[in-house]
Amino acid sequence: MKYDRILIRYGELSTKGRNRQFFIRHLKDNIKKALKPYRGIKVEALYDRMYVLLNGTESEPVVAALKKIFGIQSFSLAVRVKKDIGEIKQAGLELVKDCYQNGKTFKVTTRRGDKSFEYDTNDLNRIIGGYILENIETIQVDVKHPDIDLRIDVRKEGIYLSTGIIKGAGGLPVGASGKAMLMLSGGIDSPVAGYLTMKRGVKVEAVHFHSPPFTSPRARQKALDLAEKISAYSGSVKVHIVPFTKIQETIHKEVPEGYSMTVQRRMMLEITDRIRRKHNGLAIVTGESLGQVASQTLESMVAINDVTTAPVLRPLISMDKLEIIDIAQKIDTYDISSLPYEDCCTIFTPPAPKTRPKLELARLYEKQIDFEALIEEALEKVESVFVAPNQPAAEDGFSDLL
Ligand code: ATP
Ligand code: MG
Repeated sequence: MKYDRILIRYGELSTKGRNRQFFIRHLKDNIKKALKPYRGIKVEALYDRMYVLLNGTESEPVVAALKKIFGIQSFSLAVRVKKDIGEIKQAGLELVKDCYQNGKTFKVTTRRGDKSFEYDTNDLNRIIGGYILENIETIQVDVKHPDIDLRIDVRKEGIYLSTGIIKGAGGLPVGASGKAMLMLSGGIDSPVAGYLTMKRGVKVEAVHFHSPPFTSPRARQKALDLAEKISAYSGSVKVHIVPFTKIQETIHKEVPEGYSMTVQRRMMLEITDRIRRKHNGLAIVTGESLGQVASQTLESMVAINDVTTAPVLRPLISMDKLEIIDIAQKIDTYDISSLPYEDCCTIFTPPAPKTRPKLELARLYEKQIDFEALIEEALEKVESVFVAPNQPAAEDGFSDLL
């Protein structure tokens, strides 16, 4: 049987009351964007569900793309037939035959949205179930735990039949919750933090700090490759690459060793915050996990967070490294993150950074240096590129193409 459409269930969206249309519009746009390479596909949004009309496109790659779209609770491959009992019987039988193997059980579940249809739920379950039993010799009915659940959905415009429910990515449609700047290193944690933030509907732009020549072009490329991986969940990701060498060298020379890490993190957060304001982001996201390293103690967070009043989202704050690695493997960033290229944070790292820095001292050391000019220079030299799944990075000017 050739499926002609995919039925999409919204899940959590349906509880959003007045915002519902807003969420549905974002979801529809995101689906259309993800399915753009497949010509002929149409997306139809209704109040309580969406249909992707395949128009002859193979369902397999479309299913793979839909699995990565947040805001979809589940979906099913389906066919639509006329409101004709003969057509329902034929389509139902073919769908069950497609997934039937010896010894499997089935049941028919009918939902009748259109009460004017001449057959009611019980009639349809009985008639279609009976037809399948007659035509597949060894099949049996199991109403509690069937292997195959043939769903028949009677609606005004026609009858939809489907078997099998595919789990969606859950969450909320990307963009529906606004935009945030993700501080993206080349490590394991920050891409996972970006993915989890997208899952709650936030559009993410990445900010990456590099320090050439101390960090190599491969380290820069690694961050872009990670951004490309997570862009699979949002369609595209803009990456702002900030040259950080001069600021790091200045810190290394001028700030007492115990505080260089704290001041460096304050500078990174300050610059990210300014990029956030310029691009109308609402929050900043980091891959910090409490207690993981010296810069991630509560005392360090107090001393670093001081530079901004914007919300700093830390989706990994309570996670153990192994839990984070699990997600990194699932979203396929782990192997890239594990490549051994130096990060700008590890160069100039003092042997013993303060794990309990004092906010007042961090402010004091910072005040003695003219960072403003260096920050402005770094901001002027920011390079912004777009990445999208399976596409090479494009300069900012090409953004309209994506
Ligand atoms: P990650 O695996 O994400 O690098 P980490 O455990 O190595 O995290 P740190 O290197 O201390 O921890 O960094 C903490 C957070 O600071 C990162 O998760 C990231 O959000 C941000 N960060 C670190 N280095 C950079 C960088 N070069 N560019 C942008 N953000 C960075
Ligand atoms: Mg790191």
